[in-house]
Amino acid sequence: MNPRLRRTATPPESPPILQQRRPYQVMEHVSNILFVLMHLSLLLVFVVPVSWKVLALAVGGYAVRMWAVTAGYHRYFAHRSYKTSRAFQLVLAMLGATSMQNGPLWWASTHRRHHKYSDTARDPHSPVPRGFWYAHLGWNFDRWRPAPDERSNVRDLSRYPELRFVDSHEWIFIVAYAFLCLAIGGAAGVVWGFVVSTLAVFHATMLINSLAHVWGSRRYTTGDESRNNGLLAILTFGEGWHNNHHHAMNTARQGFFWWEIDLTYYTLRLLAWLGVIWSLREPTAAVLAGQRLSGDVTEITS
Ligand SMILES: [Zn+2]
Ligand SMILES: [Zn+2]
Repeated sequence: MNPRLRRTATPPESPPILQQRRPYQVMEHVSNILFVLMHLSLLLVFVVPVSWKVLALAVGGYAVRMWAVTAGYHRYFAHRSYKTSRAFQLVLAMLGATSMQNGPLWWASTHRRHHKYSDTARDPHSPVPRGFWYAHLGWNFDRWRPAPDERSNVRDLSRYPELRFVDSHEWIFIVAYAFLCLAIGGAAGVVWGFVVSTLAVFHATMLINSLAHVWGSRRYTTGDESRNNGLLAILTFGEGWHNNHHHAMNTARQGFFWWEIDLTYYTLRLLAWLGVIWSLREPTAAVLAGQRLSGDVTEITS
């Protein structure tokens, strides 16, 4: 029996999805090998010539794509914390796709499951039942996790054909970005602008899955182990205020107070001022004081 069909028919109270068997698919083997090769390619930083141009490319590539993950993949696609045009939505999807974290539908679907089952056996990447390294890296290779195309919880996004295209062809955008780096800086541009920068974005993002559920302070009782961590907030442009985020996941703002630096939120405010995005969801005074938001974006199905 097709395991995907079996899961679709599985009632919520049945055994956890994560314990159901799924064989590796061919493309997953390919992608895993490429993932390891990318890390080995880091050694090339000792071979290629370093220049200010390629270092700027690495930093710029990190900034743009970290922003695309947090403002686009996370706060827009996964949580719908603001509204925008169909064109800008596509820009966010394409930029996010260059970050080597799968497509926007896969990312949003996985992340909505993270919030829905936070720090339980059904959480795709929790350090609580499965340990730090599983949450940081292991889950990316785990054949027991739900199939990437199990996306019943992102029907609000998958109705757009252009998003489905980006989602199933995200490699095009990764390769295009690599060629851009080649055109700008040659071989050194690829090593610093593509390899170093992409892996930095990847691991910074994974630290939110792993470290932000282990290390930091807890302002709100959220029913999980999410933490606020200022260092992670700097590194990830605001995502480190993860306990705030689990408390009020649908708000565009994650640094709730002026001293909680949230670079992504500042840029979202700027884009709203420019009219590119609108209807930013803000935490109310009651939410800041501890009241949980009603309505759960993980339940969006249409
Ligand atoms: Zn979390
Ligand atoms: Zn989230």
